[in-house]
Amino acid sequence: MMLRIFTLSLLILLGSCGGTQEPVATDGATAPQKIYEWRMVTTWPKNLPGMGIAPETMAKKIKTMSNGRLDIKVYGAGEIVPALEVFEAVSQGTVQMGHGAAYYWKGKVPIAQFFTTLPFGLTAQEMNGWLFHGGGMELWRELYAKYNLVPIAGGNTGVQMAGWFNKEINSLEDLKGMKMRIPGLGGEVFSRAGGTAINLPGGEIFTSMQTGIIDATEWVGPYNDLAFGLHQVAKYYYYPGWQEPGPNLELIINKEAWDELPLDLQAIVENASLAVSADLLAEYTARNNAALRELVDIHGVELRRLPEDVLLGIRKISYAMTEEIVDPNDELANRIYNSYQTYRDGALSYHEISERAYINARAAK
Ligand code: CA
Repeated sequence: MMLRIFTLSLLILLGSCGGTQEPVATDGATAPQKIYEWRMVTTWPKNLPGMGIAPETMAKKIKTMSNGRLDIKVYGAGEIVPALEVFEAVSQGTVQMGHGAAYYWKGKVPIAQFFTTLPFGLTAQEMNGWLFHGGGMELWRELYAKYNLVPIAGGNTGVQMAGWFNKEINSLEDLKGMKMRIPGLGGEVFSRAGGTAINLPGGEIFTSMQTGIIDATEWVGPYNDLAFGLHQVAKYYYYPGWQEPGPNLELIINKEAWDELPLDLQAIVENASLAVSADLLAEYTARNNAALRELVDIHGVELRRLPEDVLLGIRKISYAMTEEIVDPNDELANRIYNSYQTYRDGALSYHEISERAYINARAAK
């Protein structure tokens, strides 16, 4: 009797195994998998080291990880749409994806600047903490849903440089009347300090400096600035990059296109982006120092620190302006501002006894 029950159970078990496996094998053999062919536009000049190559690397990873099911062709600025029209192109579904930075859209969505960088705001490490474990990502998704977009963090350059100038900056007075390429809220702070801020995409900086459309410019840091040859059009290279202490880049996806993707392809896009983001920050960290040496030792660039009172002056303006971009009647904008500020206070306070205390200890003579 026991043997018969055992045998019967075994048969049922075997039968049920076969029952679940068979349809899977049949489906796999007969159903061709859908191939998604997407286009990604970027705000970067084609093949710019670092942030320009990152979307290409991401597309390659996604193709490999999806076994060719999601095939993304990447376009540089101006190939399909101009750099500053990437947001609209993806929002309207002209293309499925875009890579750029949220502060380029400040004219349309002022609060979006919080998701790139704020003057005297979060560093790259702090920004990642806010986005991934401090509520930032959820707020960013909520904000971009209004524009038919899904945002994904797209990498970070780390602290940038204050920029390239042809005259020395000894006081706030020296900024008066100066025309500088400086995007985002940093640009508004610069304007309030007496200068004129101009929002130009990267590809137009060199020529604009050469022809005198602008007198000064910030771009990224030594690695990218050397690639643009900015040392050929300016003498002084100032630090620190108060205007962009840890700019987070963005990968944006048209909402309908995103919703059409099976869950495994969505997971591949998210994870490929995380991998490329981590790698991008490592790349900037590794390359900036070597590029700075080349700029100073070979090209004779004069490296200067912005004077303390200039930094103090623009910091005061920056804090006031950060509050001003928040529309008091916009409930979501207020939640973004409060979340960022609360997180920022905590991060600043902890980093006093961690990052800063350690860096001071390491530099102590
Ligand atoms: Ca910059």
